[in-house]
Amino acid sequence: MAAAGEGSYGLVIGGVEAPAGGGESTELLDPATNRPLARVAVGTPDDAARAMEVAQGAFDGSDWSGGDGARRGKALYRLAQLLDEQQEEFSLLESRNMGKTLREARVDVGYVVRTLEYVAGLADKVEGQTIPVPGSRFNYTVREPLGVTVHIAPWNYPLLLAMRSVVPALAAGNAVVLKPASLTPLTAVRFARLAKTAGVPDGILNVVPGPGGRLGEALVRDRRCRSVSFTGSSEVGRRIAVLAAERTIPATLELGGKSPVVVLPDADVDRAAKGIAFGIFGNAGQMCWAGSRLIVHSSLRAPVLDRLRAIAEAMRLGPGTEEGVEMGPLVSREQEGRVLDYVRAAREEGGTIVTGGDKPSSSALAAGNFVRPTVVADLPPGARAAREEIFGPVLSTFSYDELDDAVRLANDTPYGLFASVWTRDLASAHHLARRLDAGMVVVNEPPLTFPQTPFGGFKESGLGTEQGAGVVAAYTRVKNVLVNVAVPRKKR
Ligand code: NDP
Repeated sequence: MAAAGEGSYGLVIGGVEAPAGGGESTELLDPATNRPLARVAVGTPDDAARAMEVAQGAFDGSDWSGGDGARRGKALYRLAQLLDEQQEEFSLLESRNMGKTLREARVDVGYVVRTLEYVAGLADKVEGQTIPVPGSRFNYTVREPLGVTVHIAPWNYPLLLAMRSVVPALAAGNAVVLKPASLTPLTAVRFARLAKTAGVPDGILNVVPGPGGRLGEALVRDRRCRSVSFTGSSEVGRRIAVLAAERTIPATLELGGKSPVVVLPDADVDRAAKGIAFGIFGNAGQMCWAGSRLIVHSSLRAPVLDRLRAIAEAMRLGPGTEEGVEMGPLVSREQEGRVLDYVRAAREEGGTIVTGGDKPSSSALAAGNFVRPTVVADLPPGARAAREEIFGPVLSTFSYDELDDAVRLANDTPYGLFASVWTRDLASAHHLARRLDAGMVVVNEPPLTFPQTPFGGFKESGLGTEQGAGVVAAYTRVKNVLVNVAVPRKKR
């Protein structure tokens, strides 16, 4: 494979990095310039079958699965240390591949380090139960690893979202096959190289870049696949759910969102505006839990929109790798086109562009996939841009007078991933947290989560949760054992 800026990346199967079986590779582009960045192997369904076979062999043959959890925990902890030492290199690679700012990439990699540390500590705490049953019987449960688990990741937080499910699956003793997004596979491949150094046995963590429709589906359909963890769009998530149902395997689905941000009349306007801007312009708006629908009390509409306009217009756009840049490019030209189409639709459906709505005028940014931070007002709640996930830096705004109307607007969406509330009144905060139909509610904070807190969506935003204290057990199966311990009576 010919190398470009970041070199060549292969498939990692059985601890060996190699070209795809079909020999095909593709060129990745730097989203800030659309110049070549790296070449990466394009896996085929045959590669999928080989990865699954090798993973099954490692699961059956190495002492990773049957061995004790403390040993797995140690390897994961060692991996955390190695990643921490290479945080800057990983962050730079993530930033160049995906476009996010270096600052954001550093936060992502730090989050993966923290996930590894947290999960490493859980690896030897997966316990069964003893259950009282009638008679002279002893009944207990054991938790066993599932076998080979498949993980399919999106491009917006490439390493972080892949590792959110991969790390606990490893801790539970499974063998993993990870398919990163085609646009952003680089840090996942590099992570697999690091896992080998940390002592994860060959074949226990395999990474196969390639197209979702062919390679991703082949992985889920494979008879050795014992569970699938998918993070991505609701549309593909539904497809994965069907494939999993056909094979009677569990699926964890982390899908899209159109999250409401409710601002009550007593909110601290400055603080709220900063948090709202962070929640929609962070990662250039390419966040499943972006606060993309602002529902503000009419008494605060003007000051909140004024502050948001000022923040948006002061933001420095540029290549993510440049220090001081606050918003990088979108991941691809296609994504840029998609976002600008939504802005066009918003205008046609009666929206007023408060700020942004186009590409920046600077000629230095013309070749990259940049879109200015955008705020739209006056959209009817039924407009496309108000209902569909845009996955870009575009905020739709609505106002309300009665709290019931705010709740109705907030919940009037097929999604239910996340919601935020800005208020100084704690009683109102708890009251609203109960009424909002979302898997996560945050009060007086931009979107925020921790490895120790559950992450998951309601309605079309997903099925199951990631993270939290139960996350390693979630990658196990429960076996019940009943033993008759009656002592036979002696014959006279
Ligand atoms: P996609 O659903 O298009 O892709 C996600 C992953 O699935 C990619 O690896 C993709 O491969 C793969 N894939 C695509 N089609 C199939 C298929 N038929 N079978 C198996 N795998 C397939 O999502 P995006 O990558 O565009 O990510 C953006 C979406 O992810 C947004 O909707 C966002 O809300 C959601 N998301 C949800 C999160 C959550 O935690 N709830 C977090 C982050 C994002 P390929 O790259 O080759 O197409």
